[in-house]
Amino acid sequence: MKTGFLYGIVASSKTRVRCLFCGVHIPKANKCIEQHTNGARHKENVELMTENGITFKNNILYCKPCKLELSLEDSMMQHIDGDSHSNWIVAMEDLIDGEFISIEPYLTSEKEDAYCEVCHSPFQCTLQNIESHVNGINHRTNITEHLKPLNGIFPVENDDEVWCKICNTFIDNSPQSILEHIDDDEQHMFWFSSIEDLIEEQDITIKSFLANEFDNNAYCNRCHQEINCNTKSLEDHINSEAHLTHFS
Ligand SMILES: [Zn+2]
Ligand SMILES: [Zn+2]
Ligand SMILES: [Zn+2]
Ligand SMILES: [Zn+2]
Ligand SMILES: [Zn+2]
Repeated sequence: MKTGFLYGIVASSKTRVRCLFCGVHIPKANKCIEQHTNGARHKENVELMTENGITFKNNILYCKPCKLELSLEDSMMQHIDGDSHSNWIVAMEDLIDGEFISIEPYLTSEKEDAYCEVCHSPFQCTLQNIESHVNGINHRTNITEHLKPLNGIFPVENDDEVWCKICNTFIDNSPQSILEHIDDDEQHMFWFSSIEDLIEEQDITIKSFLANEFDNNAYCNRCHQEINCNTKSLEDHINSEAHLTHFS
């Protein structure tokens, strides 16, 4: 992306130029323009524009999500705050929340595709496509496979069920019931929130505990030590002198 200091600056009159991103006029002198384009507000606006899929090329301000050329007279802010644009952003964020779909390449570069990290596939980034992708059986299956080792969920001998190590409970072996368990089961969610609260910023990892059926331990990277993976033992360890000494 072109980011020279004249980026976004268009002629306005004999004595002034206009910054399209900030909607302001600036005296037509390199020094003034440079000062403006180095300013915090201008940089924020360029970032905002990028995050919103608005590009500026050949003197055309174009909004990719809305597939709309913005008139140079309109302010970019007005467009971003406008209904059609903000509805798209909200609907999109809703759709991709928790789905491992990245739309950043679409918004911030010339790519037309969104990318699904669990299906490893790109597809054209429209609300309709994303909606059908996230509801598709392949995606539901892939996302379940991706989430199992992050959630302590293991296959059992009979293929009809899986086992949740955290809740010590059996779940129907279907993407729907597994995802429901991960997202909605109170006991399951409570375990995660309590443990994550505890180990946050403590350099303790539970990755191996979650991904390996017979691993009963969390691991402290600070003390290079295994700790039984339950709230009591973790709490004791975090408050132990050894851990606190390594901490400082
Ligand atoms: Zn500006
Ligand atoms: Zn737009
Ligand atoms: Zn997918
Ligand atoms: Zn569970
Ligand atoms: Zn430790």
